[in-house]
Amino acid sequence: MDQKVVMTDTVLQVPDTPTIPYIEGDGIGPDIWSAAVRVFDSAVEKAYGGKKQIQWKEVLAGEKAYQATGEWLPKATEEALKEYLVGIKGPLTTPVGGGFRSLNVTIRQRLDLFVCLRPVKYYLGIPSPVKRPEQINMVVFRENTEDVYAGYELKSGEPETRELIDHLKARYGWDIRKDSGIGIKPVSETGSKRLIRAAIRYAIKHNRKSVTLVHKGNIMKFTEGAFREWGYELVQEEFGDKIVTWDDIDGEIPEGKILVKDAIADAFLQQILTRPDEYDVIATMNLNGDYISDALAAQVGGIGIDPGANINYETGNAVFEATHGTAPKYAGKDMVNPSSVILSGMLMLDYLGWKEASALIDKGIAGALARKQVTYDFARLMDGAEKVSTSRFADCIIDHM
Ligand code: NAP
Repeated sequence: MDQKVVMTDTVLQVPDTPTIPYIEGDGIGPDIWSAAVRVFDSAVEKAYGGKKQIQWKEVLAGEKAYQATGEWLPKATEEALKEYLVGIKGPLTTPVGGGFRSLNVTIRQRLDLFVCLRPVKYYLGIPSPVKRPEQINMVVFRENTEDVYAGYELKSGEPETRELIDHLKARYGWDIRKDSGIGIKPVSETGSKRLIRAAIRYAIKHNRKSVTLVHKGNIMKFTEGAFREWGYELVQEEFGDKIVTWDDIDGEIPEGKILVKDAIADAFLQQILTRPDEYDVIATMNLNGDYISDALAAQVGGIGIDPGANINYETGNAVFEATHGTAPKYAGKDMVNPSSVILSGMLMLDYLGWKEASALIDKGIAGALARKQVTYDFARLMDGAEKVSTSRFADCIIDHM
């Protein structure tokens, strides 16, 4: 019988043989998934000697779903992700043409996965464009449901856009050019606090040093500035003696405490290049988070190795995912880098509390990369690399666990 991961009083309860739904993904999805699942199963087997095991349950989305059912995201898939709480997915094609939303965005919205979690850590040996990539070890909590991504936009020249522009002039005296397009940027206290709460709880659980609220509050006072204010308010309301802010200390952070601070987004983007070791857990809104996650990912190796997760820490629902696309020209060639989905699975094991298995994957990847056993994308940037296939890279990781 199926054993399900459940959430009781905000604590995840994980059975020894949980059923985990997976979406293989389109394009290179099957290549990276078949490599990744071997890595996950080996790590769990090595860590727990058969006492724990994941029961994988395939659910369909994307092209495979469309061919089998005529739907891109069947209801059964959405239900399975809700019911089993934790799932993992490969990349999905966004059908080209009018009316289609990205399937990834649809899944995030339907499950209200309000945190986009992107850990950014450097593995020795990976080609990097910066001088000291080993100083980068951050975890980005990006708000996933609000901000200019909410989709409230009106096109320039349409009657309703003109109507809104006229109303804003009449009601608030705002002079907006008549030929403007308009976008709305909602940032709520509820949305901000639940995101910042998740980031601070993560920092406490994982013994991190600091949480930085990144914002552009000097300009956008009632959205980005309010995000910052609500963050400090939350620290007072809920975290009391576990947290310090700059106002509480002079210089040194007391032992066992976590510093909550804030940074203006543009200065922050400079400092992650010049002084990345000053930053640890990052909490930010949707658009800033998009830029920051990709900028940081580029510093530690880029697209093939960048893991991600979308999580609702209140319901426990979480979908771990490769962050790159379907790279159709490489599909079926056993060639691409499976690290993104493998590291996402590592995150998933960590989320489930299976830290020993997660640590083995970390060790396996570090071992393979240190010996320069890499797929084509890294091999072309490294001297003396041994270029390996997707499946062989998985073998190398398993060998180095
Ligand atoms: P992409 O699939 O990410 O591929 C762009 C390039 O990135 C590839 O040509 C390759 O570069 C490199 N790359 C991507 N994954 C790699 C891997 N695992 N290992 C090594 N290199 C990798 O982006 P796209 O071509 O813009 O998008 C293709 C489709 O994917 C679209 O339908 C898009 O909507 C979808 N998409 C899905 C997701 C998702 O499901 N999360 C995300 C983004 C895009 P080189 O050729 O230079 O080696």
